[in-house]
Amino acid sequence: MNEPIASPLKNTPSLYVVATPIGNLRDLPPRARDTLAAVDVVAAEDTRHSQKLLDAFGIRAKRLLAVHQHNEQQVAGQIIEWLTQGQHVALITDAGTPAISDPGARLVARVREAGYTVSPVPGACAAVAALSVAGIVEGGFRFIGFLPAKTQSRRTALMALAGERDALMFYEAPHRIKACVADMAEVFGGGREILIARELTKLHEEIAALPLAEAGAWFAAEANRVRGEFVLIVRGADMPDGVDVGALRVLGLLLDELPLRTAVRLAAEITGASRKGLYAHALRQSR
Ligand code: SAM
Repeated sequence: MNEPIASPLKNTPSLYVVATPIGNLRDLPPRARDTLAAVDVVAAEDTRHSQKLLDAFGIRAKRLLAVHQHNEQQVAGQIIEWLTQGQHVALITDAGTPAISDPGARLVARVREAGYTVSPVPGACAAVAALSVAGIVEGGFRFIGFLPAKTQSRRTALMALAGERDALMFYEAPHRIKACVADMAEVFGGGREILIARELTKLHEEIAALPLAEAGAWFAAEANRVRGEFVLIVRGADMPDGVDVGALRVLGLLLDELPLRTAVRLAAEITGASRKGLYAHALRQSR
């Protein structure tokens, strides 16, 4: 166990990237609280939203400034100016860790380029919280974040990920959740497991691990299940030997039109992939 650091601020002017709760206010770590209270400026994605968080903890920010995706470059200049004057600045977003599907990455890069320290004050992150309960025993994971909103672009993005062996982590908005999961079932196959992590850390938190083929029924079983915030974690592809993503794509198209054995034989002839591998994959998909 390391010693707690007494002062929340460093000796030199710095930018602190501070994680805030993703639902449960008690998930704001003490160091985050101390840092927000001590800095000269808090740069926040939405100042009205963050003011409520600061009020809940009795923190009176010396200066609160809005930084969002449309003004990040411009604000970076202003923040570098304050750092030059010896001030300390904290960056927060509406919820979770800044720069993870949130504003912040450009600001961080600019501040570091300007030669100032950028220091993390870690805490909640929805993707990491979901991953921690996903039980991914083997292999890595890949954070994708939000998929494109339009159906065709989303399917194209999913197709490009179909052969990925690492688990895939997505964020999705409630109004697209059912369509998104249906597209995943179609592109990845119904046999692949998905973890649906809904409303993490909140009163109605729900976590379900099930095959993609059953996800539609899971949402239909309870009207409230399409509400709230979601992280989706999909198991990586179980790619058989001698088969690549291109071959699986051809196989998928043929399976839509032909009996399994014929589709496998043609896919192997067209792509040169292993017939045995394609057959094993087709059987898994059809379960
Ligand atoms: N930077 C944030 C983080 O570290 O998690 C993510 C910001 S992103 C704009 C917001 C998305 O994160 C939501 O649409 C949802 O997909 C996911 N999310 C945020 N809070 C969540 C929660 N409590 N439960 C499940 N998903 C959540």
